[in-house]
Amino acid sequence: MTNSTHTPGIAPARLDAQALAANFTDLHAPLDAHAALVAADRCYFCHDAPCITACPTDIDIPLFIRQISTGMPEAAARTILDQNILGGMCARVCPTETLCEEACVREAAEGKPVLIGQLQRYATDTLMAKGVHPFVRAAPTGKCVAVVGAGPAGLACAHRLAMHGHDVVMFDARPKGGGLNEYGIAAYKTTDGFAEAEVKWLLQIGGITVETGKALGPDMTLASLQADYDAVFLGMGLSGVNALRAAGEDKDGVRDAVDFIADLRQADDLGGLPVGRNVVVIGGGMTAIDAAVQSKLLGAETVTVLYRRGREKMPASRYEQDLAASKGVRLVFNAMPVEIVGNGAVTALRAEYTHDTGNGLQPTGEVFEIAADMVLKAIGQTLDGSPSGVTLAGGKIAVTGPGRTSAKGVWAGGDCSAGGEDLTVTAVAEGRDAAMDIHAALGA
Ligand SMILES: Cc1cc2nc3c(=O)[nH]c(=O)nc-3n(C[C@H](O)[C@H](O)[C@H](O)COP(=O)(O)OP(=O)(O)OC[C@H]3O[C@@H](n4cnc5c(N)ncnc54)[C@H](O)[C@@H]3O)c2cc1C
Ligand code: SF4
Repeated sequence: MTNSTHTPGIAPARLDAQALAANFTDLHAPLDAHAALVAADRCYFCHDAPCITACPTDIDIPLFIRQISTGMPEAAARTILDQNILGGMCARVCPTETLCEEACVREAAEGKPVLIGQLQRYATDTLMAKGVHPFVRAAPTGKCVAVVGAGPAGLACAHRLAMHGHDVVMFDARPKGGGLNEYGIAAYKTTDGFAEAEVKWLLQIGGITVETGKALGPDMTLASLQADYDAVFLGMGLSGVNALRAAGEDKDGVRDAVDFIADLRQADDLGGLPVGRNVVVIGGGMTAIDAAVQSKLLGAETVTVLYRRGREKMPASRYEQDLAASKGVRLVFNAMPVEIVGNGAVTALRAEYTHDTGNGLQPTGEVFEIAADMVLKAIGQTLDGSPSGVTLAGGKIAVTGPGRTSAKGVWAGGDCSAGGEDLTVTAVAEGRDAAMDIHAALGA
């Protein structure tokens, strides 16, 4: 190995293979059977369980925890998957600290919630390790639904439709299904090819065809899908990115954080991935934190996240912020980029402190520079190539009720649709609920 954390510029193999493997191991080691029983034992099985209300997919959490505590993890998995077919992935990626575990009465009482996410993973992993698919299709209805986008929203919708006997054809622009589960989620949250394995497991229901490398827009129109299928579900996520609007954005070394993460997720050899010695990430959401942490784990010497507002406004949770800090990422709050400095390639980021007037952000006039050979933009994604014929609201597809768009026979859900947080679990809930509405409409 010739490179190190101190190698100037952007370089691959800053760490040896052993160090990289250790850095990118599972964020939380899975619970073994004994640890799961101990964790399950802490649940009070609340009658009016606030954890259920806090779960966007309404999983009956006390029931599945009781099933674990009585030695029936596979029944627990069934309880979870009934509501959330991507319960395995959600167990790994849900920000439980702001959802079920934040609501857990033991969090309120002791600051130590029941480990709901890790118990969910224990149950779903136990079932999936057996290769069992616990659902069977209803008799064929003769109806066929087109699903655009094979991310969490599309997959949840397709599975629920297939369960009810409808045929489904999924179209995805990328070479693999899974959406951001496959291309976006931080590598240390979903290790060992879990995203791909989960898609394969889900498709065991039957009746779903996945056509990858086919995009709405270049390869087909919404009108053609409406004509050829009984219903259409749009779950295409947000594939566009916001512009930085700071001078020098076109310099070498400046790139989108989501592309950087997608390369990382698809890399066979993490040592082959180039990363800067000094990395600056601009943004304040999960993407910013994930890009920063993974840059550090690849061997960058310094990694700084620059967020224009205060810590309390940061979309990434306090848990995510602390995770980044624990890996050596520096978080700079109340600062915005002014210029990307460099002659051809970036050498520094010039930024200015801000203060929140209560009526918008104002620059304070205090300018500073951070050394950077790589700048990652994580300032939000946008809906790219929205199909004509559907009404938009706030840059996303407008929906009413369970995902009904303004176009006849067309539903939408997940990140591309307006309303709801941009989370894996929300996308699953929206896909599932749209499927139930489509099923009702097709039966009418
Ligand atoms: C870097 C990053 C990290 C994240 N980390 C977390 C996390 O830890 N926890 C969490 O809960 N959420 C996380 N999220 C958010 C979460 O990944 C999304 O909310 C979720 O994936 C949305 O699901 P979706 O199905 O709506 O869209 P996507 O997952 O984006 O899937 C959309 C699919 O549609 C396809 N597509 C796009 N355009 C077309 C077209 N024209 N034709 C055909 N196919 C098309 C895409 O290829 C993609 O496969 C993260 C997001 C990012 C960007
Ligand atoms: S709130 Fe906590 S203790 Fe109560 S049922 Fe949910 S997980 Fe169990």
